[in-house]
Amino acid sequence: MRHVRRLELVKHGEPGEFRLVTGEPLLPSHHEVVVAVAYCGLNRLDLWTEQGRLPLPISLPRVLGGEISGTILRTGNRVHGMAPGTKVAIQSNIYCGSCEYCQNEEHSLCLHSQLLGVHRDGGLSDEILVPASMVHPVPDSTDLKSLASVVLAGSTAMHMLTNRSTIHPGQKILVIGANSGVGCYAIQIAKALGAWVVATASSPEKASLARSLGADAVVNHHLTHWPHEVRRLTAKQGVDLIIEHVGGTLLEQCFHCLARNGSIVTCGATAGQSISLNLWPFFVKQQKIIGSYGRTHADFIHTLQWLENGQLKPVIDSIHPLESATAGLIQLRNRQAIGKILIQLQNPENV
Ligand SMILES: [Zn+2]
Repeated sequence: MRHVRRLELVKHGEPGEFRLVTGEPLLPSHHEVVVAVAYCGLNRLDLWTEQGRLPLPISLPRVLGGEISGTILRTGNRVHGMAPGTKVAIQSNIYCGSCEYCQNEEHSLCLHSQLLGVHRDGGLSDEILVPASMVHPVPDSTDLKSLASVVLAGSTAMHMLTNRSTIHPGQKILVIGANSGVGCYAIQIAKALGAWVVATASSPEKASLARSLGADAVVNHHLTHWPHEVRRLTAKQGVDLIIEHVGGTLLEQCFHCLARNGSIVTCGATAGQSISLNLWPFFVKQQKIIGSYGRTHADFIHTLQWLENGQLKPVIDSIHPLESATAGLIQLRNRQAIGKILIQLQNPENV
């Protein structure tokens, strides 16, 4: 019998305590699918879950990981059209499909949302059990490494740039953190939609990555005067849109880079959940700050299409075996990753 490995978080901390266990194969109920995980990307959400810093109760043990590619292993008896061996991507923000927001295609606002790797077990395991409606078949030719690297980070950026905001060709856009998952895909999406892009990066290597992805200019956000540099690059006008996912002081500094009538779209708070905001310039310049969370099903599908037609280039830092996943989390926490850190589950010849 196949032994199913799973890396369980058993105690919160920085680092948390994990144990690698083996168990029985998972069995799907009527509308569920068991996916053999090929690759699972690590995300800052995993760090928050590991540390117990999310503002919600998490029952332990828990398997982390929401950035998943794999192949269908077995299906419930009411699931049709998903043959074993089919390559798939999994939407990690599981939505109910029936609440008022889901009915309106606003799946990221679902009243009964569950996150893979947070509310239910994620992808740091040989097998994962998910509702069939969250599993999307992809062409046989799809590279599963590339798929895992864009499935969550790319669709988060897609939601920020095409759902929570609208880009017009020629607009000036600032992308914070070019080396992050969201950052490296936001640069590519913004460029493809015709924007002029300035990105922030904190080292020459990260700046070089930003330029290779299409950024027109790069500034170092570790320098205290970096917002002045953004204003200089935009003839003192500032940028029309900022894609932000860090929060704290960095988000406060973003307002100094923002043009009249400009918007900041934000989806994270790693550097701090509270900020101070000077309301006078904010309303005089008619600026906006817009929250963004997860993705809709349409954002998810668009991201897979963009990957398939070559418009999104995967950015992968490194690939580790499951036994080294905790080392990958440390690398992510220390901000040493340039692009996605992937954990490989299946044997390479099978993927
Ligand atoms: Zn819902």
